[in-house]
Formats: sequence, structure tokens, C-alpha cells
Amino acid sequence: MDRLAVISPPVITPSEVPAGAFMLAGGLAARGIEAPIHDLSLGFFRWLFYEHAPKAGFANCAPSIKYLISPGTEFYDPHKHRSVCGVLQSVLKSYAKKFPGWQLSLMDSVPPGIAHSTADLIFLAKSGSTPFSDYLKQWVKQTRGSFDHALISLAYLSQLPAAVEIAWLLEESGIRVTLGGSLASALNDTGSGIELLRSCFREVALDDGRSIVGEDQPFLSRVEWPVFANDWKYFSSRPVIPFPLTTGCTWNKCLFCPDRDKPYMDISLKNLERLLSRGPDHPVIHLIDSAIPVKTIERVLPLLREKTSGFYGFARPQGNWLRDGLLGKIADSGCLMLQTGAESGSIGILQRFMKGFSPETAEKVITEISDSGMRNYVYLLFGLPGETEKDRELTLEMVRRLKGRIDYMNLSIFNLPEKCELTDRAAEFGIIPGDYDGDASVLRFYRPFQSMDNSDPRKDARRFIKDVFKTDPSVIPVLHSTPRWFRAGHMALMKKTDLL
Ligand code: SF4
Repeated sequence: MDRLAVISPPVITPSEVPAGAFMLAGGLAARGIEAPIHDLSLGFFRWLFYEHAPKAGFANCAPSIKYLISPGTEFYDPHKHRSVCGVLQSVLKSYAKKFPGWQLSLMDSVPPGIAHSTADLIFLAKSGSTPFSDYLKQWVKQTRGSFDHALISLAYLSQLPAAVEIAWLLEESGIRVTLGGSLASALNDTGSGIELLRSCFREVALDDGRSIVGEDQPFLSRVEWPVFANDWKYFSSRPVIPFPLTTGCTWNKCLFCPDRDKPYMDISLKNLERLLSRGPDHPVIHLIDSAIPVKTIERVLPLLREKTSGFYGFARPQGNWLRDGLLGKIADSGCLMLQTGAESGSIGILQRFMKGFSPETAEKVITEISDSGMRNYVYLLFGLPGETEKDRELTLEMVRRLKGRIDYMNLSIFNLPEKCELTDRAAEFGIIPGDYDGDASVLRFYRPFQSMDNSDPRKDARRFIKDVFKTDPSVIPVLHSTPRWFRAGHMALMKKTDLL
């Protein structure tokens, strides 16, 4: 077999190993195949902050990164965290000015031209003058000869420009490249433009990794601690290991969910035991499940309590979290934070889109999370079809009742997935899905839509969030304490502030 390498392109927030690359390399390791992880996002940021910034006369980033790795206290101080991230972000901004039209941040890269146009990305990659070019050319030179086949793991659109450039540079050096990862499979399953992605990469693999080893069984059925090409420290005060307890979703009913075709599977806890026995001591586990199932978390608590220094992940705020003091047990076992998709304070909205819990239940779960001493990261969604001003006000009233209990908040405006049950049943929900410029060759995950009654819930939601929601005294401190950079991972490691 070729000598393999797993490549994670920039830009992903450099606070933990990218989950997709980690699982792919870990699955290969469990099958006896060594495929070192090259995290080029961490590599790019290290190159920029440690090597390029001093030469270019940018601000000294070393003290800021030192703080993120060793804050000197058990948890990050929110003010200090904000100020050191501000230094890193300002250096990124200064660097991006050298590349007209590019926008760069600690979690995103947006090239000039039409958004997600593969023709533009190929042109930019071949030009060799992107923000990543100098670093990537140096990396190709340094690693030449160490592998013959690169498996590029693509999880976010923020990685796409650099992924195209990496593929181009490696193929020019005679190295075989295969693109895979959750973004490629999501585009194939629920978006449009997979053929455009194929135009950027000679080989695209859309399965979970099993085609590389010629197996039929799910790739995540066996995972071991993988090999890393470098032993760099991530920008985090504790090592964070991403791991799913399940794939798919136990609920699997939300009408606007684009992921409902993903098969549900419990991942054997033996995998987590093996990872914990070979990885760094006392890591934080980032549970990357779409929604942590209650029955599964109960089984894993003793292991998490004994072998980790904490964990966090996503929970549907449904009633079974309230049974038998479960949230208290989870907190006692080291849970630092739960991310809850409460979505709306309107029972009508939650029922219409099959969320499977009521605002009252979500409130009780959020209250108990807070009472148990864990951090609450609450996700709210506005602008769903048929959403009225009354629905939005109910959401604000829910947040007011939870004053002092929500630590962090994520506000989103609804996007209609290209493919989901709601799109299929659009007329029942009073909407007409439209199309963006049909001639543009771009990757798409969402579609525009019009309401049959001529309302525009997305526009109304934007106005409400700006003029009403964000100016409310119960919301202002939560948004102020929600870090802009290094979000979920560092939120779990942030000192809790008194928001009352
Ligand atoms: S809880 Fe999340 S993953 Fe599960 S169906 Fe709803 S949106 Fe999809």
C-alpha cells in the first residue's frame, strides 16, 4: 500500500485536532495502517504568528499564544481571553491586507470572487499567491518524500480554498491526492455541486473511510490513537479529543434537518477506552455527536469521570435529561458545558418543525444545567417559515426567564437546506423554494425561499435580533460574555461569570 498521510487544510480554529482527520487517521491506525495527521491549519497559524509576523513587523503573538496554552489559572479569564484573541485577530487582519479581496479570521477564510465558485478556487490555487501559498510551498518542500498518497479531510467551507491549493501543489509533485470528509459527503447527500468539487480533485471519496481499506463495516467501529506528523501543542489550556458516542441522531425527526439519512450507530466504548489509554493524560473530551443520547451518556460517565479532566457536547433539551438527577450526575462526572439547541420559545414553532420538546422542557433542562454548575451554551434559531413577531417575542421572554443561567448564546437565521423534508413539503409550510443564479458554477447547501403570504421571516428576524433582542438587558451580558473566537472548546474552559 502507498504511504498515506491525512491532511487537514486551513482554516479551522486551532484549539483541538480536527475531528474528521482524527477519526480517519484513528480508523486507519486501528487497521494497522499508519497515516500521520498533518494539521495544516495549526501549522499555518503557527507559521504566520511565530515565523512571518516578526519578519513582517506585526504585533508579537507569542505572549497571546502562551496565554491560550498556559493561562496560569484553572479556567480562562474572559477579559484576558478577549484581549489575546484580539491581538491574534489583528495580526491576521494585517496579513490579509496583502491579499486583495481575501478575508481571514481564526475560523474562516473567504477568497475574492464569487462565493464557493470552484473555477475561481482553481484559478487562485494555480496563481500561487493566496494567503496560504508561502506556507504550503514550504510544507510541501519539508514533507516531500514522506508519503505517496494524501487523504485530504474537508469538513468546512473555510478549508476549501486551501484544500484546492494543497491538491494542486501535491499533484504537481507527483503525489496522489484523494479528497474526502464530511463536507464532501454532505454536498453529495444534501447539497448541490458535487460534480464541481470533483473538478477540483482527481479523486473524491464519499464514504466514511472504509473504501480506503476495502472494508464493509462502518469505519468508526474500530478507532485507535493515530500518529501525528508533528507534536505541536494546540492553542488550548488542556488537550481536547473529539470523539462521537454515536453517528446519526436518535431523534431524527426535525423537518429542516439535512442529516436525517445518516445511519444511527452506537460506537463501541472500547474505542474511547483505547484512545484514552494512549492519548495525553486527562484530556477534555469533545463529544461530537449531533445530539448526545441520554442512554449512551449514562454508560460512559464512569470512564469520563476516571480518565478525563472534563467533557462537553450537544444535547437536545428534552425531558429525559431531567430524570433521576442525571444532569447532576453528569456535572459530577466532569461535564463542563452542554450545548442545547433550544431554538425557539414558541411551542407552535417547535411543534410545527418536529423538534420534539417544548419551550418549558427546554427551560427546565437549561435551568438544571445551570444549577448543577455546568456552563450553558444555548442555540437559538430565528426566521423559520411562518415565524411571527409573537413567536420571536416568546423566544425573548424565555431568555428573560432564564436570566443569569445562560452563559453563552448562538443566534442563527434559518437557511433552507437544498434537501430536507421541509424542502420536499415546502407548499404545506407556505413557502416556495427558489434558486440562486442558476448559471453560476458554485457549491450550494441552501436555497432561497419565498413565503406564499409575502411575509419575509428571515428579514423580520434580522430586524428583531438587531433592534429588540440584542438590546434587551437579559441578552446583552450573555452576548458580551460569548467569546467571538475559539468558541465551543474555549467556552468550556472559561471561568463562569456572574450574569445576574
Ligand atoms: S436533533 Fe439535530 S441531528 Fe437530530 S434530527 Fe434534529 S436537527 Fe437533525
